[in-house]
Amino acid sequence: MATLLFDDGETQILIDGYFTRVGVWELATARPVSPDGKAIDSALDRLGATRVRAIVPVHSHFDHMMDTAEVAKRTGAIVVGSRSTATFNLGMGLPSKQMVTLPKEGGTRKFGRFEIELRRSLHAPLSPKGGPRFPGEIELAFSYPAPVSSWREGGSYTVILRHPAGTIVVQGSAGFVPGALKDVKADVVFLGIGGLIRIGEPHFRNYWREVVRATGAPHVVPVHYDDLTRPADAPAIGFFPRMIDDAPTVIGWMQEQTDADVSLIPWREPIVLLSAKP
Ligand SMILES: [Zn+2]
Repeated sequence: MATLLFDDGETQILIDGYFTRVGVWELATARPVSPDGKAIDSALDRLGATRVRAIVPVHSHFDHMMDTAEVAKRTGAIVVGSRSTATFNLGMGLPSKQMVTLPKEGGTRKFGRFEIELRRSLHAPLSPKGGPRFPGEIELAFSYPAPVSSWREGGSYTVILRHPAGTIVVQGSAGFVPGALKDVKADVVFLGIGGLIRIGEPHFRNYWREVVRATGAPHVVPVHYDDLTRPADAPAIGFFPRMIDDAPTVIGWMQEQTDADVSLIPWREPIVLLSAKP
């Protein structure tokens, strides 16, 4: 998953915020699922998520956006995202003052000392036709329980977090718009690698060039490679079986690149990402 909480001591920004887990059966079929309130409460509690100002799903699939309305109701944070993201969250009863709806091309908003830009990107081409697995828009509000396919992609964004301490790029899904990030200079890139093994190494090399090399980031952190069916409070991160995904091989491809350091961040533990600049 690509759930990340950024905190500068005053303001917290949550990317995605997906704490529910769905089973293998629910992933493979139309069996309906619902957000897991207990898992959300315990994750927010453990994270100390008491100052969340913005929740930013990278796109509207269930594994990025399913919990955002529940998290926003609990924290008072504002959800920032696409029209599909808005249709879902407002349909779940989120007050309109807690929703910022952006066009496909994206937009920029400020929260505390963070400036958050969402910029149009593409989802990893995981379906046989080349697009995402559940393409299209969320046209009508729906409620839970619902099959995972109800959460349509709704367009994907690259999230750029600018802060006096540095610039962070979060790329939740392994797609790109050529040239889209050439004016961005990043200190760290969080790079979504889910499903890359099936798309292939040539796509990976283009993806690396467009997101990592283009932004000149010296540090890269792989995300969205864990087994989404394992509980969010599992003691350790788990990989999908190799027949579904093969994150170790893709992380190996990343480590062969010479233009950035690749580090894995600890599961559910805080790290210091950027130190304040004098
Ligand atoms: Zn997706």
